[in-house]
Amino acid sequence: MIIVLEPGITPEQRGALGDFLRARNADVREERAAQADLVVVTANPEGLTPEQVSGLAGVSRAVSDGQGFIHASRELHPEASVVRVKGVTVGGEAFLLAAGPCAVESKAQMELCAAAVKAAGGRVLRGGSFKPRTSPYSFQGLGAEGLRIHRAAADRHGLAMMSEVLDREDLNQVGEITDILQVGSRNMQNFPLLKALGRQSKPVLLKRGLAATREEFLLAAEYILSGGNPSVILCERGIRSFDPSLRNSLDLASVVLLKEMTHLPVLVDPSHATGQHRLVLPMARAAAVCGADGLLLEVHPEPGKALSDGPQAILPEELLRLSADLAALLPVVGRSFEVSA
Ligand code: PEP
Ligand code: MN
Repeated sequence: MIIVLEPGITPEQRGALGDFLRARNADVREERAAQADLVVVTANPEGLTPEQVSGLAGVSRAVSDGQGFIHASRELHPEASVVRVKGVTVGGEAFLLAAGPCAVESKAQMELCAAAVKAAGGRVLRGGSFKPRTSPYSFQGLGAEGLRIHRAAADRHGLAMMSEVLDREDLNQVGEITDILQVGSRNMQNFPLLKALGRQSKPVLLKRGLAATREEFLLAAEYILSGGNPSVILCERGIRSFDPSLRNSLDLASVVLLKEMTHLPVLVDPSHATGQHRLVLPMARAAAVCGADGLLLEVHPEPGKALSDGPQAILPEELLRLSADLAALLPVVGRSFEVSA
């Protein structure tokens, strides 16, 4: 249970609340959120209910654990949050273009990708060096060498770097070098990893699980936020559907819903959401006008030779074409996109 305290709670009321909880053998932890102090009940052996606590003096309200994405919700944080990293803002008025290959493969490939992202007005260079592949026989990523290649390409072009962290074991290595830590779909409910990311100071891009509800998605974000890291960016990347003709199904209504449910920025990844390069640009344009805060795209200079996710990679010239479309479309929905940024 989470107890939200009233802003004007007196020391006497705090004391009385503590006595009330202790008398019922509850264990508690105190936390600060942007707009209010919280008391989190971590052990509740006598089954105390939110109704029993809500009426107490100095308590604004109490909610059960299942409804508990209090840090992610707009309730305590009504304004949309803006995540800032290396001069890049995510959320707010400026629309973010983040792009790069699925996997870091070589210096030459990353140089071509970085130049393409920069030319298209992108601000973040993505690319995995630790890859979560469905088959153990598929390319697993270049590891530490990939991180170094990625960092150098991002720096050469003045881009921020985003790289996936698969495991708590890799967190120090990836966290030391990248600017944004990506948590993939398959790891959305890797709770030990999420807890460890709560102790990091770098922003985390959290992708929606293949079959996760929005509530599960926001509770996963809550792990990171409640652990003390305020910089979480959500990413819709398609969910599993019954129809095998597309890799996933892009849940665009979710962008609108999530923006109501949470203050966190929401990006859309139309590459993994469709799995087919022909569909990426139309879905990217749709995502931009439905209220997403930015796009995460896979681009490759030679998709036919890509070591992972080639069929969904767009070409550098397609990325450039998309950026012209974004510059024309985004002002219609009150956002800006500057190619020269
Ligand atoms: C990726 O971004 O390359 C990736 C593996 O994405 P997802 O976790 O959405 O499948
Ligand atoms: Mn990929």
